[in-house]
Order: sequence, then C-alpha cells, then structure tokens
Amino acid sequence: MDEADGTRIRVFLNDPAGRGDRLVEVDAPQAMDESPWAFRVEGTAPPPQLYEPDTAEFLYWQLAAALDRGKRFWARRLPGRGTWELGRVLPAVPVAGSDLNAFYDRQALRFFRAVDEKTGNVVYSGESPDVSLHEQGHAVLDAIRPDLWDAPHFEVAAFHEGFGDFAANAAAAVTAMSAGSAVLPQTSIVLS
Ligand SMILES: [Zn+2]
Repeated sequence: MDEADGTRIRVFLNDPAGRGDRLVEVDAPQAMDESPWAFRVEGTAPPPQLYEPDTAEFLYWQLAAALDRGKRFWARRLPGRGTWELGRVLPAVPVAGSDLNAFYDRQALRFFRAVDEKTGNVVYSGESPDVSLHEQGHAVLDAIRPDLWDAPHFEVAAFHEGFGDFAANAAAAVTAMSAGSAVLPQTSIVLS
C-alpha cells in the first residue's frame, strides 16, 4: 500500500484484463447514496487509499468508482430521472458468491469471484468497469422501461444486453475522457 492523503484511490478505468489497461489514481467518489441514481456498495467502506488489486479494499473502491462514473453519466443523459425500479438506492454486492458471473436482479447488482482455470488467478467480476457499468445499464433501463423486464421475447432480452453494453462503453468513454485519460474502452466480457 502506498502513502496517500486519505481521499485518493487507485482504479482500473477499463477491464483489468484489457490490453494495456493500467491503474490510475483518482479521487474517491463521494455522496454515492445521494440521488439521482444513488447506490451503495455493501460492506464497510475502507478508508480511501491506494490499495492493491485483488484485495477487498481495492474491490470496494474499484466498484464504487466505476458505478459513480455511470451515476454521473446517467445524471447528465437522463435529467429528471434517477430512481431505480426498487427505490432510491441500488445496493451493489462486491462478492455475492463463487462464480464467473455478475447480474442485476431488481434488488441489487451482484458481483462474484472465481478462479480462472487457465491462470489460477482469482477473478473478481466487480473489478471490471466493463462489467459493473453493463450491469448498472440493465438497472437504468429497468428504471425507465420496467415493462421490458419480463417481456416474453428474445428480442427484448437481446435489447437489454445491447443496452448494457452501450451503457458500459458510453459511460466509460465519456468519463475516461473527462478524467483526462487517453484510455479507450474495451469490451472483452459480456455477462448477463
Ligand atoms: Zn447483461
């Protein structure tokens, strides 16, 4: 762990497995639980510091920082909106179990840990902004078009997936540029 002033964290802007992606130092997000598009990362918030990847502390802030980028993106793009289908604050569970997965289920965003059989490394789906912004995109679409959630058509489910990918790419691109980064978004994982 590096020395820090207590307000800075270290995050990946895109997928940690993305070619050339690197850690950058950013301000820790604040007021995450304030509307619009309020969210809460479950668990105790560790003090903001420059944590190492693959630690619980890093995962907390990595997930919070990515969802905060999406929060700001959607606040600008959808003025006047910002309440989730389940209510005002959307919980995000950093490690909901052991699986190579992530999903939104109308109660929370849920992320998982798994062991990559090729490398033996532990993979946290919540470490990837591509994944967390995609899942947040499902929740945003559900908030503005809840009728699409249970629609009995493959096309609607496909649209939900496409919207999630759009959300991940758009939010990552816009907020990466505003952070002064030249990193471009790469979508390497598509999860439901
Ligand atoms: Zn999806």
